[in-house]
Amino acid sequence: MKQLPSLDKHYINGQWVSSQSTATFDVVSPVTAQVVDQLSLGGSADVDSAVDAAKNAFPLFAATTQAQRVAMFDRLIDAYEDSLEDMAHAITTEMGAPITVSQQKQTMVGLGLLKSMRQTLMDFSTTEKIGDVLVQKLPIGVAGMITPWNWPMNQVVCKVSAALAAGCSMVLKPSEYAPYSAALFADIVDRAELPPGVFNLVHGGAQAGEALASHRDVDVISITGSVRAGVAVAQAAAPTVKRVTQELGGKSPFIVLPDADLSAAANSCVARLMLNTGQSCNAPTRLIVPEQHKAETLAAIKTAISNYQVGDPFEQSTDIGPVVNKLQFDRVNAYIQTGIDEGAEVLCGGVSDHDANDGFFVKPTCFYDVDESMTVAQEEIFGPVLVVLSYSDIEHAIQIANASHFGLSAYVYGHNNDDTMHVATKLEAGMVHVNDAIATMDAPFGGFKQSGNGRERGVFGLEEYLEVKSIYVG
Ligand code: NAD
Repeated sequence: MKQLPSLDKHYINGQWVSSQSTATFDVVSPVTAQVVDQLSLGGSADVDSAVDAAKNAFPLFAATTQAQRVAMFDRLIDAYEDSLEDMAHAITTEMGAPITVSQQKQTMVGLGLLKSMRQTLMDFSTTEKIGDVLVQKLPIGVAGMITPWNWPMNQVVCKVSAALAAGCSMVLKPSEYAPYSAALFADIVDRAELPPGVFNLVHGGAQAGEALASHRDVDVISITGSVRAGVAVAQAAAPTVKRVTQELGGKSPFIVLPDADLSAAANSCVARLMLNTGQSCNAPTRLIVPEQHKAETLAAIKTAISNYQVGDPFEQSTDIGPVVNKLQFDRVNAYIQTGIDEGAEVLCGGVSDHDANDGFFVKPTCFYDVDESMTVAQEEIFGPVLVVLSYSDIEHAIQIANASHFGLSAYVYGHNNDDTMHVATKLEAGMVHVNDAIATMDAPFGGFKQSGNGRERGVFGLEEYLEVKSIYVG
């Protein structure tokens, strides 16, 4: 039997402590829609305690050598490796990812990011010369971190590893919908024996997030979440003039070029979208296909989607689990209904046949004959829903792809290298994938436009937690 951590305490100054707030939050199973646990929600007094602990820990931690911090990474990696099965179980329990996805992807990305940032730290120089000027790169101070539920260890470890490498102390406020994995991560930190106060965890919702974002002793706030929450965090942070980094939503285009293997392109797009039940910020959700190959591509998509098995996420054979919560169940179904009402054609799927009491399962759905202006072509749905648009020539495809407020990821699939690179360079996105290329752990991750500000992973991620000083010597 896998262990789930208890949810009644925060981790502050190296200790598990009770909440000063009495507020609680029902933890609901996405599979059964039943309440399975209670989470203690922190309030501003809990955030104050955690920030105090981080502030007190900062001077000594900032003075540690790179070699000392590399040794901390080694202990973290060992402790994380001891928890892989429990972590996968925690993630599937809290947010419903198929267990194979939790085991092979969700959990492993956290481990991969720890190893990658350890290497980045080893290679990093904290000084450079510009002419005679000495430029120092210094830890910025106390880091606040607000994370979502969809790839919980990806987002937590992206932020924590970069702050640790930089020499910052920190307070993490994870999503109230992913509390088990976060509590287990705090236990991993505890076992790795980081100095008390360097890493602190306060469970909570928007209120705790706002308290952290507005806190005068927090020097950088990094949020991953919706545009709505990203804007709220920036507004709360503004009066204290702290650094704000935002990793927000997406509506990523996938362009199929005329010379592409249509079946391979359809399989690639569907696989990237359906992974994690469509709940990835960088999922390709707008498939843009040549008008002359539309019928063939639609047939390939229908076949690809029909191979995905929806079911109990704890079954090894399940490809698509429930979506995370009732809010998302209602939202995804409402978007599907809006697509139908606005005149898009349903290739497969549609609105759920059951209500949320039977679990938050939605139908993998594909729309075609979609117009750029339709709601389903513009807004982030955050579920297994694909829309297909068609183009007349490549410049038209690029124009459709870029007609979005978002700019996180983009995908281009084709045979001719010059053509795929021409399209890749014109796409307004922080990350472009050509054919089946996948993201690496150390290249910058983040978006253009309303997909955010700043980058995570590797040296770009590390630098978000550094302040720069120029020393001019006379
Ligand atoms: P969300 O915005 O509801 O919540 C994200 C986090 O912000 C949670 O911890 C939440 O408690 C907190 N929060 C909510 N309102 C807040 C407020 N007013 N002040 C401070 N904190 C607040 O998002 P979600 O539903 O957890 O996650 C899904 C969203 O995250 C999607 O839009 C997705 O695209 C985005 N996302 C982006 C990336 C990326 O790297 N760009 C990665 C994953 C998810």
